[in-house]
Amino acid sequence: MSHTDQLQRFSFDNTDIRGEIAHLETAYQEVVRRHNYPPLIAGVVGQLMAATAILSANLKFAGRLTLQMRMPGNITLLQAETNEKGQLRAIARYDENATTADLNFTDGSLVITMEPDQGQRYQGITAIAGGNIASALEDYFAQSEQLASRFWLAADGERFAAGLMLQKLPTPAGKEADLDAWDRVNHLAGTIKEEELLHLPAATVLHRLFHEEQTRIYPASELSFFCTCSKPRIAAAIAQLGQDELNSMVQEQGKIDITCEFCQQHYSFDQAQVDALFSSQPLH
Ligand SMILES: [Zn+2]
Repeated sequence: MSHTDQLQRFSFDNTDIRGEIAHLETAYQEVVRRHNYPPLIAGVVGQLMAATAILSANLKFAGRLTLQMRMPGNITLLQAETNEKGQLRAIARYDENATTADLNFTDGSLVITMEPDQGQRYQGITAIAGGNIASALEDYFAQSEQLASRFWLAADGERFAAGLMLQKLPTPAGKEADLDAWDRVNHLAGTIKEEELLHLPAATVLHRLFHEEQTRIYPASELSFFCTCSKPRIAAAIAQLGQDELNSMVQEQGKIDITCEFCQQHYSFDQAQVDALFSSQPLH
């Protein structure tokens, strides 16, 4: 089986430390190809997708998790979404003048939203203090969840994106924590090279880094590209504008053209289809 487009969970026996490795190939290429992002933007989009794939393991329910970085400057939004099936999509909003200086992420906010299909929506926000996507996530988990976490994220801008996370769960009351273990595995993980993370299967990475630790590896889960847009969903969204507004748009332009921001899928609605939105007839 291919090692790409997979999420690999692991933990260390006799510790409260867990971890994940996400590898993206096809899912990442789908996003880069559809948007034709320049390498700079494709790189950070890939890192954000890898991070979001890692966070998908937190979805214990049917629903959606969205990771957003909202910033001033030339890159105003990086957003990736996933669901409990590991299906991913992502977008970036940026100015074409963006340079590597814009990757310092000195200002803005990191927002994680969890939306169960049924039940209460949860949102956590932390300020971006500068650094990179990995450090922003580490700050988020320290501040919002009181969890010590480390992220290593990499993307080559065209083919591969990958991420490694370590997280220290709270030690149950009455149980002695292995205080050295966190420092030890962090030090080992810190020796990972970007090309190893991008190109090697998770099992190989885990063996190279942690062969002296008692590492427990769980079954891998699949990751894929998927966009939730559909004609009925787009129709429901434009119907909010009201029949008069839509009629005048059709009169001016001949039809209403909508392109999905996430997947670039094109949808169009002519007069008959607009009329159908406001009748009891099903839309064809
Ligand atoms: Zn779409």
